[in-house]
Amino acid sequence: MADDVRQAMLEDIGSRTPRMEELTRKIRSELAEVAECGDGFAVVPIQGSGTYALEAMLSSLLHDADKLLVAANGPYGERMAQICRVHGLNHRTLNSSGMRPVSAAEIETVLQADPAVTHVALVHFETALGVLNDLDAVLAVASRRGVRVFVDAMSSFGALPIPMRNRPVTAVAASSNKCLHGAPGLSFVIADRGALENAPPARSLSLDLAAQFREFEKSGQWRFTPPTHVVLALERALASYRAQGGRAGRWAHYSAIAQAITSGLAALGIEALIESRFRAPIIATFVLPFGNEVMPAARLSQLLIERGFVIYPSVYKEQNSYRVGFIGELTQEDARGVVEATRSILVANHCLPALA
Ligand SMILES: *Cc1c(COP(=O)(O)O)cnc(C)c1O
Repeated sequence: MADDVRQAMLEDIGSRTPRMEELTRKIRSELAEVAECGDGFAVVPIQGSGTYALEAMLSSLLHDADKLLVAANGPYGERMAQICRVHGLNHRTLNSSGMRPVSAAEIETVLQADPAVTHVALVHFETALGVLNDLDAVLAVASRRGVRVFVDAMSSFGALPIPMRNRPVTAVAASSNKCLHGAPGLSFVIADRGALENAPPARSLSLDLAAQFREFEKSGQWRFTPPTHVVLALERALASYRAQGGRAGRWAHYSAIAQAITSGLAALGIEALIESRFRAPIIATFVLPFGNEVMPAARLSQLLIERGFVIYPSVYKEQNSYRVGFIGELTQEDARGVVEATRSILVANHCLPALA
């Protein structure tokens, strides 16, 4: 996190003070500006991590008569199906390979065969292996078939455009701690106002998006204790976001970091798992040029973490692989640092020849 964002959290604010109401009003309108969603949508912040926003979104906006098609090409898509199961929401799942985007054509085939489906849920960027789904293509299919779309834009919001105006989008969920560079603990749903106003009876007390929306509109306050420090951090992070060129600035920065790390690792024989046309400079999975028996990725991860680089092994178990994130307050020096740390660990452990 940037120093000024961390500093912003040193202020204590009362939950129900005019200062907090003003701050809440401000971040709601600034998030709407980042989203370029227009007046047809409202930003509804939720206490908690991204999953809380996803759960609030699906459990609050789907009616009993609705049926959701969850297009899942990875664990985050599966998580939305899990939310549906927990809440008993009428749904079906279209599972597809985590190595490539969900096929819009396959979604269309399911929609044709199952006219009961009213909504589709899609993860914009599947953060597990690092695959960018084709949101535009899915929205085009949804328009054609007359269904509406829920988007998990957790890891793309602020870095990639998310078309909302004049599109069949019911709601988009994101959080403060990914591409916006805020602190963890705050998420938000940007929802169609009509869908919020016509929401079904609540299925949860604290994750009731419609009630949360009504309270913000009525009193400007949060229903339950807000994460005041995290909201302050987000206000500061949004100011930096604008000063650094908004979405285009962030995209350019992440691209340069991704390029430096990807080419540095390629020189060591470590290649990206996913085809480049399906990737985005947010996070990527890299495959080690040797098997588990030489050194498992989990061990490399431990050694990198000891050196201050938080790199996790991949969820992809078929190959010895790990993932490297490109977002956050990273510099070119960090990019060179992680490549050099990887090289020196692998050489010291005889996984790579010394001259590699
Ligand atoms: C980070 C993320 C989430 C939310 O995960 P939390 O652990 O609840 O913050 C959901 N979906 C995607 C695609 C994500 O990248």
